[in-house]
Amino acid sequence: MRSQEWIAEGTALCRSALADLAGPSLLPDWTRKHLAAHLALNAEGIGNLVQWAKTGEEHRMYLSPEQRTVDIEAGALRPDSELITWFDQSARLLADQMAGLTDDQWARTVRTMQGMEVPATYTPWMRSREVMIHAVDLGAGVTFADLPTDFLEALCADIRTMRGDVPELDGPLPEVAAYLAGRSYDGVFTADGSPAEPLPPWL
Ligand code: ZN
Repeated sequence: MRSQEWIAEGTALCRSALADLAGPSLLPDWTRKHLAAHLALNAEGIGNLVQWAKTGEEHRMYLSPEQRTVDIEAGALRPDSELITWFDQSARLLADQMAGLTDDQWARTVRTMQGMEVPATYTPWMRSREVMIHAVDLGAGVTFADLPTDFLEALCADIRTMRGDVPELDGPLPEVAAYLAGRSYDGVFTADGSPAEPLPPWL
């Protein structure tokens, strides 16, 4: 699955961006350490969905949105070295879990935190988005232009479906993807040549 390769590529980008946990992230309320904790918890949460697909028994991604927030805040307080180890181990475990699924298990239905019913084959895409976009959000120099073209195309299509009402846009693909994701962008215009109206953050 191409999205499993995207996970590996995005994980490597995050891993290099996490080398310095002291700097600010590009997200308003989160430090790099919050993002590191969120990424580790997200790997575990998606791992729960993979476990669900494997066993056929419900395993929720997170206990609740409130618990997710509490866990991110607590995780962000952990020492840098622990956060990096947690990020690495959670990423490795998730890759192992995904490698262990049969075709029948991949076809099973699981439910995302937002309550959306999806086949388990959707979970590698969910994780791809997280590691790719947050690699940029970490603010350590990775930009949308560093992400694979086929990933950016898939991302734009996905966000358009999710947002529903986005007009046709003109601009370089990485900038259009950043725009659609509600991140900072440059040079994105609508069909009539006027600058596109900024969108609220997505994901
Ligand atoms: Zn996220």
